[in-house]
Amino acid sequence: MSWRSLAGLIRRTGTVAEPAPPLPEAEPAGAAGVLGGSLQIRHVDAGSCNGCEIELGAAFGPVYDAERYGARLVASPRHADAVLVTGAVTRNMAEPLRLTVRATPEPRLVIAMGDCARGCGPFRDGYGVVGGADDVVPVDAEIPGCPPEPAAVVEALRRVTGR
Ligand code: SF4
Repeated sequence: MSWRSLAGLIRRTGTVAEPAPPLPEAEPAGAAGVLGGSLQIRHVDAGSCNGCEIELGAAFGPVYDAERYGARLVASPRHADAVLVTGAVTRNMAEPLRLTVRATPEPRLVIAMGDCARGCGPFRDGYGVVGGADDVVPVDAEIPGCPPEPAAVVEALRRVTGR
């Protein structure tokens, strides 16, 4: 296909996107009320098997597109409103997790994504595991599942952004 016919195809097709599902009804947690509309998230893998990361990547990919609801992943806790924790917290990651939360300006949220971060996953009793995220830092919201589906991640983030 030439670039001309490709450009024509793009022009004829226009924008194709699913309409946004209705806003989740449950009350937002913690500081969510003052963070509404926009949420910058620093993700911390505290000891995950990477299953949660795959679903998190999908939640921010083109199909589920969490960014259209005002949530965005950022590289530094200094730029973040929320810390999203995945995985059981390992001994080596307990202090980095504490420091990351401390480096995130207030008001801030801590979200535990997946059963490991909620303290009830398959690695809970591992020798190198301290516990769930709330054994190390205060947690405001949880996303259950092993791993949670991208739609559940997007729904939880929409409760915070209110969009
Ligand atoms: S909750 Fe499940 S998918 Fe997520 S890190 Fe734990 S074992 Fe892996």
